[in-house]
Amino acid sequence: MSRGPTKTVEDWVEAKSQAAGFARLDGEAFPVFDKGWVWLVGAGPGAPGLLSLLGYHAMQNCDVAVYDALVNPGILRWLHVGAELEYAGKRGGKPSPVQRDISIRLVELAKAGKRVLRLKGGDPFMFGRGGEECQHLASAGIPFRIVPGITAGVAGLAYAGMPATHRDTNHSVIFLTGHDATGKMPANVNWQAVAKASPVIVMYMAVKNLDEIAAALLAGGRPGDDPVTIISNASMPQQLVSVTTLTAAGDFVRHNDPPTPAIVVVGHAADWRSMLDWYKPALRENAIG
Ligand code: SAH
Repeated sequence: MSRGPTKTVEDWVEAKSQAAGFARLDGEAFPVFDKGWVWLVGAGPGAPGLLSLLGYHAMQNCDVAVYDALVNPGILRWLHVGAELEYAGKRGGKPSPVQRDISIRLVELAKAGKRVLRLKGGDPFMFGRGGEECQHLASAGIPFRIVPGITAGVAGLAYAGMPATHRDTNHSVIFLTGHDATGKMPANVNWQAVAKASPVIVMYMAVKNLDEIAAALLAGGRPGDDPVTIISNASMPQQLVSVTTLTAAGDFVRHNDPPTPAIVVVGHAADWRSMLDWYKPALRENAIG
């Protein structure tokens, strides 16, 4: 894990002036962030404005922030000027620190009496290994709090103008991951059941194995013309939404190489986009969301 501050002085100064506008919030009776505690905070999918107020409070009160690759660096603007910053993700082609190392580091920092902010992309308990980190903290007797975040599988659909549920069409949603710990299509997902169970299937980490996943859903009886929407960089100015079909999905990925991170959505939620696609270029100029 690489350590130490990664911000320039200008970044800190900018962060400080940004924080001033939130002065009123600082007067609110937020829960106390005690020394020796770890707060696992969901940073949301990217747009800094999607952080929760408890998340903001944690950023203003932590001693050290340990953040992942999927956390948009733009969100670090909410950190207070004195906070230390530690990066816990892949960078410069180096392998990411193993999960165990991150957990050990969190315990070490908490035992040193720091207020530790563990900042994770989206929601800490949605496909982000937050559960594993908490297990480790719990076994080490470290007190912790979970601050949920807006998960990419919800925010992505919102920013793409696709209601995840709708009284006329989408009565249930399934969230699943498109790869297991080894990078393969998860064998312990019942694809037959998934194909039939829900009009909307939201998949994380599914681009790489989309060919295989589409085949499994087709074999499970899902119609070949079901729309497949790939939402890349959800909630970020560079968000890209592509729509294909279940039959064509594998070829689409091979030919177009959609940017990641991406959420893949199977189902007719996509049909609402023609009317509800609201995240237009003019709105993307705002860096907060
Ligand atoms: N805990 C995170 C998910 C971590 S798994 C959450 O709740 O969102 C990582 C996967 O999340 C990526 O492979 C991708 O499928 C999805 N993801 C995260 N951020 C995203 C974004 N801004 N746009 C699209 N997909 C995203």
